[in-house]
Amino acid sequence: MNIERLEKNAKEGDPEAQYLLFREKERRGELSLPSTPVTHSRKCFRCGAELTDEQSLSRGMGKTCWGHVDSKNEKMEPDIEKVKKLHAKFLSKMDFRYWEASVVIARLGNFLYTEKLNQKILKEICRKILWALSFGLPSKQNEILLSLLEALGYSLLVKILKNQAVIGRAKVSTHDGILYLKAPRPKRVVVLALKGAGALFDWPSHTWNFPGAKASKAADVIKRYFLNVEGLEEALETLKETLKEFPEAGLKRFISETGVEEVEVKTPYNSDFISELKAQIPYGIKGPDNQWFLFREFDRSDKVWVIRKEEHIKTIKELVTKYFLSESLPRG
Ligand SMILES: [Zn+2]
Repeated sequence: MNIERLEKNAKEGDPEAQYLLFREKERRGELSLPSTPVTHSRKCFRCGAELTDEQSLSRGMGKTCWGHVDSKNEKMEPDIEKVKKLHAKFLSKMDFRYWEASVVIARLGNFLYTEKLNQKILKEICRKILWALSFGLPSKQNEILLSLLEALGYSLLVKILKNQAVIGRAKVSTHDGILYLKAPRPKRVVVLALKGAGALFDWPSHTWNFPGAKASKAADVIKRYFLNVEGLEEALETLKETLKEFPEAGLKRFISETGVEEVEVKTPYNSDFISELKAQIPYGIKGPDNQWFLFREFDRSDKVWVIRKEEHIKTIKELVTKYFLSESLPRG
């Protein structure tokens, strides 16, 4: 083996050369392994509990946490080029005080460069990384390993490890074109993702509401962060049917009655929307017979706003578009 060429290529950032260089140094006994490795007590990476029994030690994770990840370490497509780069990055920053874990991760190059990668091998790599994480490596190295897992396609698993996933039971349902999610209180990062997908939190019912128009975005976020979801697929199916029937039903249902034109507007709860609605649409006018003709009326039983008069109907359509429909759906 031409070690000089390897060194040159490794320096230039060729991940395979970096790996082969590691193997060569290992073969020649040139790696500066400490004579007595620093002994680390091994801890579950997710919850920090000391690992004591044989089984937990062998997988690098306590029983409870393993229960969460084992059933749920579903995979997306791996990005093998990225995996190789991250692996090389790990090699270049390897810390031999933690040699058990470091060497095992370094040797993953055997899989990456000599084996044909298949599902089984990817899973094996994933297992070895989980095991290495329990050694309490320096945080930079842990970060690389987590990114490696992500590049391997285990992004949900990484969220579980980082404690960002919502583990308790979540339930999805739909009604009148709105998608509802009832779930245990999520971490901030999940809250931001939910809001980013157009969700509004309804305090009285403790439910997240998504306008139907944003259902696919909502479904992505729900799948990404919630481990135990019930009813998502069914709700999406039902919602699809509803949206077919009333293209704009994601939020609103328009009906015209004889005589006075009026629209019914159903949206998820949003206080800004309501204050703007009240600011822009007057309550109504008193007729000569002292009877009120209402321009806007909230129907408590159906939880819909009823809006009357053409100019106000125009306003409400604009408001609904502004608050709920900015991205999709035909505008009613
Ligand atoms: Zn644990």
